[in-house]
Amino acid sequence: MLKGRELAPFREQLLGWFRQFRRDLPWRRTKDPYRIWLSEIMLQQTRVAAVIPYYERFVERFPDVRSLATAPENEVLRLWSGLGYYGRARNLRKAAQQVVARHGGQFPANFEDILALPGIGNYTAPAILSIAFGEKLAVLDGNVARVLSRVGAVRGDIREPRRWQGLQVTANSLLDPESPGDWNQAMMELGATLCTPKSPQCLLCPVAQFCEGRKLGIAESLPEKRKKHPTVEIHLAAAVFADENGWTLLLPPPEGQNNESLADYIPATVSKLWHFPTVPASGDPAAKLRSLLRKLVPKKQNGNLRLFAAGKIRHAVTYRAITVQPYRINTKTLPRIKGAERVPLQEVTVLPVSNLTRKVARAALEAVFSASQKRRELSFR
Ligand code: SF4
Repeated sequence: MLKGRELAPFREQLLGWFRQFRRDLPWRRTKDPYRIWLSEIMLQQTRVAAVIPYYERFVERFPDVRSLATAPENEVLRLWSGLGYYGRARNLRKAAQQVVARHGGQFPANFEDILALPGIGNYTAPAILSIAFGEKLAVLDGNVARVLSRVGAVRGDIREPRRWQGLQVTANSLLDPESPGDWNQAMMELGATLCTPKSPQCLLCPVAQFCEGRKLGIAESLPEKRKKHPTVEIHLAAAVFADENGWTLLLPPPEGQNNESLADYIPATVSKLWHFPTVPASGDPAAKLRSLLRKLVPKKQNGNLRLFAAGKIRHAVTYRAITVQPYRINTKTLPRIKGAERVPLQEVTVLPVSNLTRKVARAALEAVFSASQKRRELSFR
């Protein structure tokens, strides 16, 4: 790609731009590998603006590896709740435990040891090592790959192993050996702020003069689209119990065999977190839910459960387009369900729950509100 005389000005211009315009982000004010690791994991598939408040809450509660390693999983998930992709939070805690057990609580500083930690892959390890320890390792993540595919006018699916390896070779050759941490952040920053997926701002770009994609007028169409997993429509029904004091029941994070390949696999749709009793429900959702409740609720308590449809909600998890039909079940007292926890319906987030579960709770609350509103309107006529 860039060789010889072009390489030095390319590095100089990109680093100069980064040092002048970089965003002031909380994890950029530290060299603590624990905090850099945490930010890198949170930033996977998530926007910077969304991550900042989570990051700040997290480091306040878990300021170091040991405090995270000894925290109950529920608490870690609760602080993660809303950020999505909850496997990341589970892996963080497991990795913190390994850092304590194998490295005496000191974050490892070599590639193999870092890569051996759960949730850390070929992208995250160079990011931590270069930013926290100044190791000469080039990062190749989605943002960097987009920049490189445009600068080099790389055609075809860049996620194809051969092309991805080619981009890694390019990233290695561009890396500034004097400032590898800043260099990696500069590449990622360019991809995140100017060389964005749609409408790259080439007029403001510090390396526009080196960009083949821009010269050929094809920058915006790169990288070429890859084949997406087709969207699958899923229909679920969820039971929202509500007692006279506004308390409800949530089931614990599902365990057992991994059946991720099934589109309507309930643990995947509720992100393996606390959730309302839920069933796949094509056809007659109320009937399917009743049959689940017959299994969950002791016989003498499930005789006269009345299900009220509480609107419909839509939610997307990866390729799944989910429609949930929540049913509110008003009861004097909540039934006993093995493993279930009582929580206020207004505040289901006291336990770690997914955004889907929050939406279901909101729909059940709004259904009651609009019903009482209607009653009031009728009584005024
Ligand atoms: S010139 Fe445009 S397409 Fe090329 S790297 Fe800069 S922002 Fe991206």
